[in-house]
Amino acid sequence: MALAQSYRYVEHWGMAGGATTRVLCPRSVMELRASFAEARASGTPLTLRGAGNSYGDASTGSQGFVIDCTRFNRILAFDAATGIAELEPGVTLRELWRHTLPQGWWPRVVSGTSFTTIGGIAAANIHGKNNFAVGTVGDAILEFDLLDAQGNLHTCSRERESELFHAAIGAFGLLGAFTRIRLQTKHVYSGELEVTTFAGKNLRELMDFVLAHVDDADYLVGWIDCFAASDALGRGQIHHGRYLHEDEDHDAEETLRVAHQELSPMVFGVVPKSELWRATRLLNHDAGMRFINGVRYWQGRLEGLLPPKRWTHVEFSFLLDSVPNWKWSYGRRPGHGLIQFQPFVPKESAHAVFSEILRRSQARGFVPYLGVLKRHRPDPFWLTHAVDGWSLALDYKVTPATREALFAFCRSLAELVLDAGGRFYFAKDSILPADALERMLPRERLDAFFELKSALDPAGLLETDLWRRVAPERLEGARETRAQEVRE
Ligand SMILES: Cc1cc2nc3c(=O)[nH]c(=O)nc-3n(C[C@H](O)[C@H](O)[C@H](O)COP(=O)(O)OP(=O)(O)OC[C@H]3O[C@@H](n4cnc5c(N)ncnc54)[C@H](O)[C@@H]3O)c2cc1C
Repeated sequence: MALAQSYRYVEHWGMAGGATTRVLCPRSVMELRASFAEARASGTPLTLRGAGNSYGDASTGSQGFVIDCTRFNRILAFDAATGIAELEPGVTLRELWRHTLPQGWWPRVVSGTSFTTIGGIAAANIHGKNNFAVGTVGDAILEFDLLDAQGNLHTCSRERESELFHAAIGAFGLLGAFTRIRLQTKHVYSGELEVTTFAGKNLRELMDFVLAHVDDADYLVGWIDCFAASDALGRGQIHHGRYLHEDEDHDAEETLRVAHQELSPMVFGVVPKSELWRATRLLNHDAGMRFINGVRYWQGRLEGLLPPKRWTHVEFSFLLDSVPNWKWSYGRRPGHGLIQFQPFVPKESAHAVFSEILRRSQARGFVPYLGVLKRHRPDPFWLTHAVDGWSLALDYKVTPATREALFAFCRSLAELVLDAGGRFYFAKDSILPADALERMLPRERLDAFFELKSALDPAGLLETDLWRRVAPERLEGARETRAQEVRE
């Protein structure tokens, strides 16, 4: 069968950018290898793409072909005795949990949306609401196959090709394509979690609550009302989630079923959730969002007085999926959308840096409509974004009129973060300047990473718009090699 392909507009998940490109859709290692060979022969750069859930330009490639891995998506094996899954890269988290949960297993690390692919989350080395406890998704990966740009397949694990194992997880598609991933999932006794809500009057109270509960919680995630000022700066709520023990769910067979997890497609039984974004659009402005954030805070105060509740894994993990296409409330015209700014800051300075970011955002009139606070721990992957500290993910609205000023403002905030020894997570980035990567990670580590890149991909075929933005000089040499090879 011929390789499926098309020309289409490939955009940032946050809709603030994109380009029309040729998109190839391989379904196997053989088809992927053929795509790489075609790109090599023509000297065309390639961008690997999963389901395109990176907020910015991490999976767009405006200067070459895009390889869409979503059709390369079989669950190859799942062992219900060990919880080990063997997956092709295009399998989504949604497909994975639907397969494993009825057998008592849940993915150990998930993103806030279930539509991400296994290849995409491995390349981004995603973190979940349990990062402080279990690390990143890379910590749950046991082994993978990676096809490099020259068509060679590498099987990597902590024991075998260990350097490549630690470099490719979190490499954002620069070293090769994952073609098979073996992943450890987590045994659960119930399809539900026990969730406690705590509302804190300011950022300090929220952070203190998290620190007091890192030993008794399986998940901790904070939501911040970015409009609150003065003594209430950084107020919000924390959700504390705990797995149920074996004897705590007397109807586990039922709660583990897919049907029990599925979110209802209707609100009040009459309004389809798929249309809800239209209603939220009416409130998608500063006054509306100030109101929504205020209501949420007071709702959190109320919930904090009530006993813990049971939530399904899907409700707790993928809350954002409950309003399909909610991002459309930011506007559906060209140039309208959102960017996310997610600094990771060491624990010593996180409170001061986040407070300053919130203060400056309010003073400048760019107040994030959503703020999410998490506690993190370091991990062993070469391009890690994690620190022993905290992250604050902030959603900023973009319009053609505000774009330039907003991006410049976010770049000024990035200076604050980098000066404090902080890092950024490329899956969420749209604004970092060309020197940020060099300031975030030790030079020796970057040298080693780009040496590996030259060995696996001497002609620099694998690129993305993000990599061209954050590492232009590091990619320059390979570009010349590529041109030379085509001339020859
Ligand atoms: C609503 C929402 C909530 C989110 N919540 C979280 C969260 O809680 N935690 C978190 O860490 N992230 C979160 N994210 C970010 C998301 O998890 C990452 O952007 C993830 O990489 C997206 O997966 P994807 O399949 O859509 O990959 P894409 O966005 O398509 O690609 C991501 C990267 O993977 C590379 N890639 C794709 N496939 C392959 C492959 N087969 N081999 C090698 N490289 C490949 C691409 O080149 C790109 O660099 C969230 C995103 C959204 C939209």
